Amino acid sequence: MDVRYRSTRNSEVTVTASQAILKGLADDGGLFVPDHLPKLSVSMEELKGMTYQETAYAVMKEFLTDFTEEELKNCIQKAYDSKFDTEEIAPLVKVDGTYFIELFHGATIAFKDMALSILPHLLTTSAKKNHVKNEIVILTATSGDTGKAAMAGFANVEGTRIIVFYPKNGVSKVQEMQMVTQTGDNVDVVAIHGNFDNAQSGVKAMFEDKKLAEELDKHGYQFSSANSINIGRLVPQVVYYVYAYAKLLDNEEIQPGEQINVVVPTGNFGNILAAYYAKNMGVPIAKLICASNENKVLFDFFQTGVYDRKDREFKLTTSPSMDILISSNLERLIYQIAGCDDKKNAELMQALKSEGVYEITDAMKAGLKDFAAGYATEAQTAETIHDVYKKTGYVMDTHTAVAAHVCQEYQENSGDKTKCVVASTASPYKFAGSVMAAIDEKYASVDEFDLLKELSQVSNTEMPNAIKEILNANILHTLECDVDKMEDTVKAILEL
Ligand SMILES: *Cc1c(COP(=O)(O)O)cnc(C)c1O
Repeated sequence: MDVRYRSTRNSEVTVTASQAILKGLADDGGLFVPDHLPKLSVSMEELKGMTYQETAYAVMKEFLTDFTEEELKNCIQKAYDSKFDTEEIAPLVKVDGTYFIELFHGATIAFKDMALSILPHLLTTSAKKNHVKNEIVILTATSGDTGKAAMAGFANVEGTRIIVFYPKNGVSKVQEMQMVTQTGDNVDVVAIHGNFDNAQSGVKAMFEDKKLAEELDKHGYQFSSANSINIGRLVPQVVYYVYAYAKLLDNEEIQPGEQINVVVPTGNFGNILAAYYAKNMGVPIAKLICASNENKVLFDFFQTGVYDRKDREFKLTTSPSMDILISSNLERLIYQIAGCDDKKNAELMQALKSEGVYEITDAMKAGLKDFAAGYATEAQTAETIHDVYKKTGYVMDTHTAVAAHVCQEYQENSGDKTKCVVASTASPYKFAGSVMAAIDEKYASVDEFDLLKELSQVSNTEMPNAIKEILNANILHTLECDVDKMEDTVKAILEL
């Protein structure tokens, strides 16, 4: 059955998958969601023997029903190739009884590569299918990892330009260097004097601005999004949950039909929502465990049913890609648990915008029964990196450590013996300063760049290419702007 996409704030209009990918955000400011959540049409027995690319096709064809087999396979082939440093694409590693699905083997060594290496191909294919003549301008807010992964994905892709906004003091040194050294004639990156929520709100406001859209159109441009509000980001992320389950079966770590729990270090709620979609496709996932850092607005939401971002201090943590107080993709879950009630969802989102808070109904709370949530303090995050390393030699990054802590705490408190898969979202090299300081405090005062070699020795792993590249690269981007000047900056870049 064809899947069509409609806005979480207005169910009346539906569009095809390719149109939803092109637009990014719906005209009413809502997010595109599938009109029904599709099921897998191949068995786990078949999936067991599949490569990552084959699994990607089996999953994505169920969502992107207006793509031909040839189009979709072509996108998959271009995305999941030697840009990844392992043929497995997403290896599943067992550490001390817990499984880590390592999602950081792509070009920019964070899990954003899993979707952003395919999004440019999905987008240009969508443009062709819909006879789009305009150049597509990808506008992206980043808490550190999306920006680089999107720039790497879109660099020199014909018919596209990309402009990235990141919080000036809100990303790691490695993350910043990765972005400001990005080559490509069509890429721009701007440091804003604000935090990630400011960047995201500024970008969303530009998407919703009809006058700006007209002006762009006159100059032969249109916006689209590489953030996880784009359904073209979300769908490729469903793949690795299916793949992880099939690998567990193939490795005889679980029995056919056995349920697993997944633990996801969460910021914008895209990754864990993909796990929810995988569960709905038929993957035997019991609990979806949402892990937050000290910006724990989601933890509080799952405890109380109240989403409250008022009077909350935005904290800069050692897991900066999760420093978020407005989790965009939660809206897709809210819509779903409201029984796909667009009016109810729109009302709650309006309340969030105007009052900074909303509360879901009891009926909606019942829809969250498969979710659990926890959070890690900065000390607990560091302790987890330290303890796991001392016990096993495995070095994990700060984001993954947040999830590993929450996983352990969940198991202790609940007594639930279900096997757990932790989404491992970044390479430790990307956050070498914090990771090494956690392993031994003697590293705490050493410059992050001086620790990269040391990390290679300590973890007994080879330094990834993504790191080697930035050690000798030139700084190409130095643009900065105030939060209220984001639109002017875009206009200047596009020479409107
Ligand atoms: C983006 C990111 C996250 C958060 O993922 P969401 O899909 O935004 O919830 C976690 N860890 C890392 C390393 C990231 O880059």
